Formats: sequence, C-alpha cells, structure tokens
Amino acid sequence: SKNTGKNKYSIFSEDMNQRQIRRMELEKDLRNAQEQEEFFIVYQPKWDSLHNRLTGMEALLRWKHPQLGIVSPGEFIPIAEETGLIIPMTDWILEKVCEQNKIWQQQADIYIPISVNMSARMFECSAFPERIARILADTGLEPQYLELEITESIAMNGIEGTVEQLQQIQQQGVGISLDDFGTGYSSLGSLDEMPVDIIKIDQVFVRNIDHASKQSIISTIIAIAYNLNMEMVAEGVETVEQIQFLQSKGCFIMQGYYYGKPMTVEQMNQWLEQSADQ
Ligand code: C2E
Ligand code: CA
Ligand code: CA
Ligand code: CA
Repeated sequence: SKNTGKNKYSIFSEDMNQRQIRRMELEKDLRNAQEQEEFFIVYQPKWDSLHNRLTGMEALLRWKHPQLGIVSPGEFIPIAEETGLIIPMTDWILEKVCEQNKIWQQQADIYIPISVNMSARMFECSAFPERIARILADTGLEPQYLELEITESIAMNGIEGTVEQLQQIQQQGVGISLDDFGTGYSSLGSLDEMPVDIIKIDQVFVRNIDHASKQSIISTIIAIAYNLNMEMVAEGVETVEQIQFLQSKGCFIMQGYYYGKPMTVEQMNQWLEQSADQ
C-alpha cells in the first residue's frame, strides 16, 4: 500500500542519514586524531614456512576513538584518503615503523623488513622519495628493512609520475610489494615492467582454496611470480590445508591468523620470545 511505501522510504532515508552523520563525525574527529595520539600501529608476522622462521612483518594502522572505540581501517582509511589526511598519517607511520624496526634490531637482534601500506595520494607530491630517504636517515634504518605495499591501481593507473617515484624509492634499496594481487584489473603483460619485487596473493584466493577455480588462479599467480623471479607472500592463511596447498605450488611465505594476528609492540615482543623458545 501507499503507507508501506512511505515507511520504507523513511527507513531508508533515516539509514542514509545515520551513515552520513557517522561519516561526518568520523571525518571531524579524524582531523584531531593524530594530535590526540589516538593512532597506534599493529604488526603482523610474515612467516617463512620452508625454513621455519620469521621473515618480515606488515604494519597495520589502528584508530582508538575516544567514544567509539576501535574504528576499522576499512572505514577510516577511505575518509583519510578523500580528505588528504592520509599523507601526514602515512609519514607518521613510516617514521614509527622505521624507529620500531631499529629497536627490534638493537634489542632483539631481529633483522627483517617491515612493510607499510601506501595510498595513491602519497605520490601526489614528487618529493615522496626524498621524504623516504630522510626518514631512513633520521632513524638510521638501512633501506632493505623497509618495504612499501602498493596496490595494482596505484601502480597501473595511478597519478602521473608514480612509477618514476617507485623506481627512485626502489633504487634506494627499499622493497616494493604488490598488495591484493589478482583482485585488480591490471594487465599481466606490463607486470614485468613494474618496479615490484614481491607479489602478495590476495586472501580471497587463499580463503577459497578448496574451490577448483580458485586453485587454478593461485597456481597461475604463483607460476607468474616464479617466472618473473619475484618473491611471493600468501595473505589470510588460516588453515593447515591452505598451507599445504600453497607449499605444493611453491609458495612458502605465509601471512595470516594461523601464524600470528596483527599485534601491538608489547604483544609482538611476547610472541617473539615464544617463537624463539621453540
Ligand atoms: P590489507 O593491506 O590487505 O591488510 C590485510 C588485512 O587482512 C588486515 O586487515 C589484516 O588484519 C587482515 N588479515 C591478516 N591475516 C588474516 C587472516 O588470516 N584472516 C583474515 N580474515 N584476515 C586477515 P586490517 O588491519 O583490518 O586492514 C584492512 C585494510 O586497511 C588493509 O588491507 C589496508 O588496505 C588498509 N590499511 C590498514 N592499515 C593501513 C595503513 O597504515 N595505511 C593504508 N593506506 N591502508 C591501511
Ligand atoms: Ca597490505
Ligand atoms: Ca592485502
Ligand atoms: Ca585486502
């Protein structure tokens, strides 16, 4: 009836309103979050399942909102990107991660690269490679212990000059890894021309490893990475079955809850002690 239609409409618009209000609030609060020290970084291990050792970590950002609690990056990163706040945020993350990595080198004798996720907007300013060099110099971290994770869309159809900047960063000795590989629409044909050292197989393929169609996609991705002489990391690894399948195809570096969840520095220190005891 006419009535139901009207109700449906008002529920819908109210829902829209709520979402818009939350978004506006998050945007407003995001502007002060860095100053208020509401951000922190968690670290997830990358595990070499062939040699049974830690081989790297990925840094992931968390926002502890004073009223809302932990807001997921899936919600606040897009806002940070739209507003441009992501640029000072990422500079801060890079600095923190390099500092922390240096601390792990000195205090725990651990020498591994730690990766940081990049947004397309980082490449808007051509001085980004110089900023990376400055952060490395300031923290005293050797470039091979920093890695940038970029997505296919940044690499393939990002802002003009992105590829040149990536090449400059790579020439400094910083590793570049291609995140969420297989989910974009990049032409595989130009992959060999990209400044990329590592391919990260997206979790959607790992999650559905018991589907024959996904198995053939993973096999293909691994074969491509192998032929291009690139390292590869499987993301979202949760089960023994997934590990066995990946290993059978020649992929040995794993990241996922099976080996370790993203952890705060304190949690990671405990985890490092435990894995050293084994
Ligand atoms: P991503 O770069 O693909 O990061 C991997 C995501 O998978 C992380 O979610 C991680 O917690 C989750 N994950 C890891 N292992 C497993 C597993 O075994 N099972 C499942 N189900 N999930 C797993 P998170 O931390 O919520 O981050 C989501 C996305 O937000 C990231 O996806 C990345 O695109 C973005 N993000 C996070 N931190 C940053 C950052 O510092 N800068 C930028 N630009 N983006 C970030
Ligand atoms: Ca990533
Ligand atoms: Ca990913
Ligand atoms: Ca992802």
